[in-house]
Amino acid sequence: MRYQLELSTGIKAVRAAANVCRAVQANLVTADTLEKKDKSPVTVADFAAQAIVCAHLLGALPNDLMVGEEDSAELRTGEEAGLRASVVKHVADELAGADEAQVLGWIDHGCHDGSEVRYWTLDPIDGTKGFLRGEQYAIALALIENGEVVAGVLGCPNLKVGDHQGALFTATKDGGATMYRLFDEADQGQPIAVAQIASASEARFCESVESGHSNQGESAQIAAILGITAEPYRIDSQCKYAAVARNDASIYLRLPTSETYREKIWDHAAGKLIVEAAGGKVTDVNGNALDFTLGRHLDNNKGIVATCGAIHDDVINAIRQVRG
Ligand code: AMP
Ligand code: MG
Repeated sequence: MRYQLELSTGIKAVRAAANVCRAVQANLVTADTLEKKDKSPVTVADFAAQAIVCAHLLGALPNDLMVGEEDSAELRTGEEAGLRASVVKHVADELAGADEAQVLGWIDHGCHDGSEVRYWTLDPIDGTKGFLRGEQYAIALALIENGEVVAGVLGCPNLKVGDHQGALFTATKDGGATMYRLFDEADQGQPIAVAQIASASEARFCESVESGHSNQGESAQIAAILGITAEPYRIDSQCKYAAVARNDASIYLRLPTSETYREKIWDHAAGKLIVEAAGGKVTDVNGNALDFTLGRHLDNNKGIVATCGAIHDDVINAIRQVRG
């Protein structure tokens, strides 16, 4: 099978980043953080995770480019010396001996704009609000070639596989989708598949916890048209794609809340491939394929619809009735 070096490197990278994110969430996110709207724990973990993932990729695939969500410009300033030291310390917990110059360099490996034929894209912590609430978040890594997502690795440190806390999802183009225990490197994984339902009325749909990220009023209307009676499954981050891929839900709706918001490639590339490899379908709200040829943003698309496949057209039709 193709992309095996890419996949094994991506898995190691995401597992290493997940170790740090988990430690930061356990030790730094407190009730106090939430109350003061203090985002520093997620900022530390965000930078550290990007550094760790980039370090792994640079080690195994030194010619590959990276479009990451973060860059180190602010981190390099005098005011951020404390944050910088904390990021370096957390990276060094995972990559012994890492120093400040290396860590900043690894973060900035992620500064590519996505204009080349082949590049990776990374959201080091997708679902920062979920992370700060102590809930779900994801480390999302994908490889894009010629505008096509060809490999995806999604680490979900708080999503369970049986009684193991932490799930890892992988997919390659033309390969299937697999779920592993995230914090058990010996796990052999299991194939996953989307729901096999014939009618959308049997579906359960998932959406953002944050009402600012997806129009929850419209999703309720769409669910009513489809005859869906199950309550929406609200969960942060690309865990929603994982939910569809492993049949915790059969629809993921991301309905635009503004005319101007531009979806980012790192918020969707890994999840989209994992749903498709599990047998599902992913488009925007108009039923158009996601266009990964335009750099950092999905400028040809509005919103996201991921489904188990068979019901996709019915969902798009219901969206049309509600959104016009
Ligand atoms: P979720 O956890 O699914 O609610 O989404 C988290 C992602 O939402 C973040 O990675 C942001 O990039 C993205 N985001 C931020 N603002 C918006 C918005 N207005 N509409 C849609 N997505 C957004
Ligand atoms: Mg994100």
